[in-house]
Amino acid sequence: MSKSAGFFNLSLDKILSDDQSFLDQARIRLLYYGLGIVFIALASLLSNVYYQHQPLITYTAVAMLVCTVISFKFLTYNGNWRVISHGLLILATAVNLLDVFYTFQNVNIVTIQMVILVVIFSFYMLGQTYGIFYSILNLIPVLIFLVVQYNHAYFIQFKPEQIDQSTIIIAVFANFILLIYIHSHFYTAFYLNIQELKKTSEDQAVLNEKLGSAIDKAEKSSQAKSEFLSTMSHEIRTPLNAVIGMSNLLLMSNPRHDQRENLEILKFSGSNLLAIVNDVLDFNKIESGKVIFENIGFNLTELMQAICGGQKIKAAEKGLLFNLDIDDSLNTKVLFGDPTRITQIIFNLVSNAIKFTKEGNIGVSCSVIEDRHNTITVNFAVKDTGIGIDQHNIDTIFEPFAQESITTTRQYGGTGLGLAIIKRLLELQGLKMNVNSVVGHGSEFSFNMEFPVSTEQHVPRVDNKLPLQANDTLNHIRMLIAEDNVVNVMLMKKLLSKWNITPTIAENGERAVQLVQYGNFDIILMDLQMPIMNGFDAAIEIRKLPDPKKANVPIIALTASALFDIRERVFNSGMNDYVSKPFKPEELLEKIHTLTVQI
Ligand code: ADP
Repeated sequence: MSKSAGFFNLSLDKILSDDQSFLDQARIRLLYYGLGIVFIALASLLSNVYYQHQPLITYTAVAMLVCTVISFKFLTYNGNWRVISHGLLILATAVNLLDVFYTFQNVNIVTIQMVILVVIFSFYMLGQTYGIFYSILNLIPVLIFLVVQYNHAYFIQFKPEQIDQSTIIIAVFANFILLIYIHSHFYTAFYLNIQELKKTSEDQAVLNEKLGSAIDKAEKSSQAKSEFLSTMSHEIRTPLNAVIGMSNLLLMSNPRHDQRENLEILKFSGSNLLAIVNDVLDFNKIESGKVIFENIGFNLTELMQAICGGQKIKAAEKGLLFNLDIDDSLNTKVLFGDPTRITQIIFNLVSNAIKFTKEGNIGVSCSVIEDRHNTITVNFAVKDTGIGIDQHNIDTIFEPFAQESITTTRQYGGTGLGLAIIKRLLELQGLKMNVNSVVGHGSEFSFNMEFPVSTEQHVPRVDNKLPLQANDTLNHIRMLIAEDNVVNVMLMKKLLSKWNITPTIAENGERAVQLVQYGNFDIILMDLQMPIMNGFDAAIEIRKLPDPKKANVPIIALTASALFDIRERVFNSGMNDYVSKPFKPEELLEKIHTLTVQI
């Protein structure tokens, strides 16, 4: 880009700028100094031919001198080197043709020099296409002249001008100087360019190295953070499980009314704390990109009913009406997706709706908005008549650890992680959450999700089972518990004693495998995180045992982990089912019952 400047300012600096490439800067410099050399050469040539009274050459020299001055002025005025290059090349071509066919009617050393100058100048200044164009324009007439003259066919009614030796010397010398100058100038420019490139690539290598080590450091620190969080969460969860488990046990032993109330508070606080720890861990996992979505068949109606079952009771306790509205067409469909993550999202939204609503109602709906037979798009919406959210805060509440205001924390508790987790879970699936909310009137959170649909029809489960009671049928069960934590072992023993089960204890996975080899068990409860051999490996070893009865013993995994991909790992290592700690006693009882019923 040229800089604008005064008319009489002839400095080179005003037409050079850092925006120009090195090559373009070299081109401008070449023109600037080259035109100076040409001017001196032409001036000396002119004075020489003028005194020899050779009008044609004199006029030509004068015309060239004027063109040189105009070009120089034009260059220093707006720096358009391209136009000037074309102008100079056209001029040189014209002079060349004039020399060959008119002035000298000969191809002498000056003509050859001029052709070479045009070739070099056009390629360096204007690139390959124009280089070829101007080269041919100058070469072909010279060749034609030589051929025609050779055949003695050349005839022109004009006597060529004879120039003396000194003029020839000046022209030849000036042309050589120009040839050398152009070459040396561009050689310097290319050399500098190469040096610069070398330096840039060296600088880049140093930068890359720095970048690499910075990325390494960042990855290591993020890894360390993740590990720290998961270790801490595990460490916190283990005693917390014991607290919740103990409260469960005490609640089962018919406490007095006042004791029951205290125990309920203990259990509620423990569960809340556990939910927070799980949220932190889950958020950390999502942030580090370790989430894998499952793609398993499930029925959305049954899933939604299961999610909302407990929530309905909570809403009723607060005097809220709860309405679950599911599109009838979903009753018989088997969809493919990740029910665990859907549960997490809906559960969180409904919990918030109940938490932030004092009176009125909560509405949860699943409506089919597009049915293309093999895929289906469902709109999920959770609506409440609660406190609502200010429009300005709608984006903020999806940020991690963000709540609408300090008062929210004080009044309602919570960590501000729920919506951040939901938002990221949806984003990872390319989905977006919509929020409509009016302060004081209520909020609606909704999103659309597409599911592949199975060709099979879903057969609704007939659930006429009576609540399971522990009875004498279980007391003959031979149970092995693989668990390293003494508090958990004590807890399990106490709980099982209520069902008349006396378990054998293995303190790690390896011991569990040995015990199965030498003893007979009807069911194994397998903790997953144990020293020496973890629960997954122990299950794999047990499944490999030669005795088919032992190899096929039912195994229920006990997971302290809130991680959602645990389910797949549990089944992949051959275990039959899992319960998450702190487990609900009835849930464990039901699973034990189901797996041992054939005994
Ligand atoms: P938490 O519920 O633990 O505070 P969330 O991430 O689930 O964290 O929610 C963030 C904030 O968004 C809440 O603190 C609350 O201010 C606001 N919020 C979420 N859901 C609702 C709702 N249904 N009604 C009103 N405010 C809500």
